[in-house]
Amino acid sequence: MANVKFFNGQSFPLEMHKVRIIQKLNLIPIEARQEAMAAAGNNTFLLKNRDVFMDMLTDSGVNAMSDRQLAAMMLADDSYAGSETFERLDKAVNTLFGTRYFLPAHQGRACENLLSQIFVRPGTVVPMNYHFTTTKAHITLNGGRIEEIIVDEGLAVTSTFPFKGNMDVDKLEQLMQRHGREGVAFVRMEAGTNLVGGQPFSLENLEQVSAVCRGHGVPLVLDASLLSDNLYFNKLREPACAGMSLHQITLRMAELCDIIYFSARKLGFGRGGGMCTSNDEHFRRIREMVPLYEGFLTYGGMSVREMEAIAIGLEETLDPDMISQGPIFIEYMVEQLLQRRIPVITPPGGLGCHVDARAFLDHIPQNQYPAGALASAFFIASGVRGMERGTLSEQRDENGHEPMADMELLRLALPRRVFTLSQVNYAVDRLAWLYDNRRLVGGLRFTEEPRVLRFFFGKLAPVTDWQNDLVARFRTDFGDSL
Ligand SMILES: *Cc1c(COP(=O)(O)O)cnc(C)c1O
Repeated sequence: MANVKFFNGQSFPLEMHKVRIIQKLNLIPIEARQEAMAAAGNNTFLLKNRDVFMDMLTDSGVNAMSDRQLAAMMLADDSYAGSETFERLDKAVNTLFGTRYFLPAHQGRACENLLSQIFVRPGTVVPMNYHFTTTKAHITLNGGRIEEIIVDEGLAVTSTFPFKGNMDVDKLEQLMQRHGREGVAFVRMEAGTNLVGGQPFSLENLEQVSAVCRGHGVPLVLDASLLSDNLYFNKLREPACAGMSLHQITLRMAELCDIIYFSARKLGFGRGGGMCTSNDEHFRRIREMVPLYEGFLTYGGMSVREMEAIAIGLEETLDPDMISQGPIFIEYMVEQLLQRRIPVITPPGGLGCHVDARAFLDHIPQNQYPAGALASAFFIASGVRGMERGTLSEQRDENGHEPMADMELLRLALPRRVFTLSQVNYAVDRLAWLYDNRRLVGGLRFTEEPRVLRFFFGKLAPVTDWQNDLVARFRTDFGDSL
């Protein structure tokens, strides 16, 4: 992707690839979308993909592969031991990060399981810029506790701060002093901080965090799942990185950390994961666990074909044209939405565009799930599937009390290299229409509420018959258009 200037002086995102394999999409009429949403219990996770036009639920495992990745998959070597496929992936990972050892795992959370089992003891803390759902679960399962010490700007919905994923280094130093080396299992930095809107950390911040960790002898672990977006922003927003190549930035980051792990469902445009390090002791301890939980050291639960694709995908991660589509599309979307005064998280991050549902639907109380209502209304209005990231994604405590989320967000993910600019424009247009008609949108209530992970399986109903009013208004405004 590139931002090119057009003859009229404006600049537009321009795709730097052509499409050679296509998947047909369906845009079903709004009445059918309303029915599909009702059948899914107003939960976008429960929609059937055949009823969805643009799937903006997630960026996990749905990124488009390149011709070179598909070609490499044909070379996969299925031998259990001594596999050439493993050698190629091992080389790609260690070249990318400048590390000595690579250990495969079937996906990102599998790495988190192994690292938590090795390092986390009951009562220890894991300071981090911000948690990811699976990370927190594994650390807690092993008796540890997370401490989120993201900078204050990180949780501001609108901001101009370029590195909202930064860690507060003073708070880190205080935590280290309070708990000591024995009380801190490891420190975790997450690239492209997922749950606060795909926001990056600066290389300078990582340098400071690393200095504190080394000063106290505590390992620094990098979650590099969303590294490609973070790198793009380092180059664009950090003066010290402007003259560095993406590879130089990556190598410098890796030097500052002791262990790196990643989900290859995001990094490397494939499906898998792994860990790397240059430390003999860490390598030895992790290596003992991989065959127990993942598979032999030459595949770690991954298919060899995916491993070949990841090896090429990691090389492509260092090509700005190959990794910039997500951030450029997101920036474009955010600008278009701001021009229409639609509340979104700023500055634009990676991963997706995050609409502030609390401001969008400020007439809906939080216990009627404004972000869930927005996800439902937006699917009905457009056929676009987003993901609720708000109170619905929390869970009740033991007393049945329902905590309210810090932010109520509708996440519209931009899977890498998948959509075209006209599709992005369509999503913006329908969201603008919905914003004009936001007073028609009402809240939701649970009809089936699972005790754990209720956002995956729960079903809800509209509190009034607002969805009929929304469909009627659509027909008035758009006639018989889809
Ligand atoms: C997706 C993700 C994970 C988990 O990876 P899976 O491959 O889905 O298990 C971990 N950390 C971050 C930042 C992620 O985005």
